[in-house]
Amino acid sequence: MRFDSVPMPAAVEARPRDGRGYPVPAITPWEGGEPRFALTDHARSAECARGRCCSVCGRAMPPGAVWRVVGPAECAAIADALAAGLPYRNLAPTTEGPGHRACMLYASMVCPYLALPGARRGQSAAAPDALTAHVVRGAARGAVGAVAGFGEFEYAVTGERVLFRFLDLVEFLPYERAEAQLAELRAELDRAGG
Ligand SMILES: [Zn+2]
Repeated sequence: MRFDSVPMPAAVEARPRDGRGYPVPAITPWEGGEPRFALTDHARSAECARGRCCSVCGRAMPPGAVWRVVGPAECAAIADALAAGLPYRNLAPTTEGPGHRACMLYASMVCPYLALPGARRGQSAAAPDALTAHVVRGAARGAVGAVAGFGEFEYAVTGERVLFRFLDLVEFLPYERAEAQLAELRAELDRAGG
């Protein structure tokens, strides 16, 4: 979706913008005054991890669950685990850090590297009470990604990378089209008071 057609969390609104007006995530490196959206800046990512800050807006995350956007492979793995009644554990570390629920819902729709243009069309809108057989089947069928909440995360800063591991899945919002998350984002912003 066009970034200006998606309501922006206040903390994202406060981010620096690129030439088109796109908000630039906290962990995005800048080169020659231009953000490099496809890359992750080591120092910025390490700083976010150590400070328990959101990788999108850069502000502190409260104690409790954190969220991230997962791609199709991990989405399918989560769906399989849920369908089998097994706890899902993200044992393979990822370089993608956690964030606020609103920030990750926003990123799932707006970030060109997450929103997956050309995604398959199909039944929309995963239910918010996503840990149900109905949604698990839906996710396994055609989801291109998901916003997932986790009770805990751990991280390691190496010389080259910052690695994250997520534990205790608490929310799973798979989508086939990025705009399926729009209602969920609006509700989240209402809850947070804008
Ligand atoms: Zn945030």
